[in-house]
Amino acid sequence: MLGYQKVLAHLRRNKREHLKLLQRLVAQPSISAQNEGVRECAELLVNIMEGLGIPAQTYETEGHPVVYGEIGEGDFTVLFYGHYDVQPPEPLEAWDSPPFKPTVRKGRLYGRGTGDNKGQLLSHLLAVHSYLQVLGEIPIKIKFVFEGEEESGSPYLADFVSEHKELLQADLAYTSDGPLHESGAPAVYYGVRGMLGLEISLETASWDNHSGNKGGVIPNAAWELVKILSSMKDENGRVRVAGFYEQVREPSTKDLELIENLEYHPWQIAKNFGVKKIEMEKEDFYRRLTLEPTMSINGLTSGYQGKGTKTIIPARASAKLDCRLVADQDPEMVFAAIKHHVEKMNPDAEVVMQGYMHPSRTDPALPVSEKILKAAQTASGKKPVALPAMGGSLPDYVWTKILGVPSIIVPYANADEANHAPNENLDLECFYQGIEISARAMYELSKK
Ligand SMILES: [Zn+2]
Repeated sequence: MLGYQKVLAHLRRNKREHLKLLQRLVAQPSISAQNEGVRECAELLVNIMEGLGIPAQTYETEGHPVVYGEIGEGDFTVLFYGHYDVQPPEPLEAWDSPPFKPTVRKGRLYGRGTGDNKGQLLSHLLAVHSYLQVLGEIPIKIKFVFEGEEESGSPYLADFVSEHKELLQADLAYTSDGPLHESGAPAVYYGVRGMLGLEISLETASWDNHSGNKGGVIPNAAWELVKILSSMKDENGRVRVAGFYEQVREPSTKDLELIENLEYHPWQIAKNFGVKKIEMEKEDFYRRLTLEPTMSINGLTSGYQGKGTKTIIPARASAKLDCRLVADQDPEMVFAAIKHHVEKMNPDAEVVMQGYMHPSRTDPALPVSEKILKAAQTASGKKPVALPAMGGSLPDYVWTKILGVPSIIVPYANADEANHAPNENLDLECFYQGIEISARAMYELSKK
């Protein structure tokens, strides 16, 4: 404990240095979607890690390189995962300061990648650095995997993990990405929902026809598509595709206990979501958001939407959809079920898959879970909000399914970090708190 207190004191004395390092990392663009500066950023990150006393190197993949580092000895091994690539900064004119000129305003650092994810991955590195500075060693063994294309859907992370299973073997995977709970309390997630993207399109004629001269005798692509879509969900939001729920895992007692312990203010949530009201009980709300799959229409296209009227029968219609999947749904099986359903409704409709990510879950009853909760609570002074899974998606399955390791997600950024948007920012208090959570987690995990 004394050692840890010294580490903490060191962290608090060196905030200015920590901020400087973050600014250096953010100033290097690393836009994976546009292949801009990614390799340079990987090299800079290796450089920064070695400067902090952490041996590191890049590993080539078919896409952008992975930065890997390893340090420490001990019975327990943690693998920290993060990503050094960022989203495109456009529209540039919407930024109050240039995205790659990190600028402090009112206690926040503004710049692309400050919260997502450079500030968060740096937190782990700075925690390690303080242990090295103060004690000369780390109480556990630590591995770092920093990916360069998370913002492009992590296309080669699974391959990298499959090819380096021995190198990456660990007792726990730990990811800090995304925001704290809206209340300001830390959030702890034991999994993520998966994702399946698809497009349904339909052509009922070779061209748009006159709705009077041909109206009533030929099919209308817009109506046909609407029929297909409305057959896919009932009025309670249940998906009506046969087999869709077949592989959904029953929630464990512990999963439901986590939900039971959460606070629930539906009016506040409705306000945060920009909707009039949320009309469901707490358990139903959180089960639907974390433990059940869903299907969303992301966009619809057909016919004429311009000024005035255009009396046509549209020849073509299409819709993009995504499904958020939960353990143990297999995206390919879900896709096959949807394709079957759509083709049964209308054999002319075409269904095309647009990529997927597997869901992932870790048992919240594992002993490491208590240690992480304790670290988050002690470092923040607030009781963490623990959920069985995130509503969103991360490539968490590479740890739980490919590597076979439990995985916990502990985000460090402020709830209004504006990630993926202009004026992305990281509240500096969240940055420093994140470093303390990482340092405390290392201490808790080293205890028997
Ligand atoms: Zn992101």
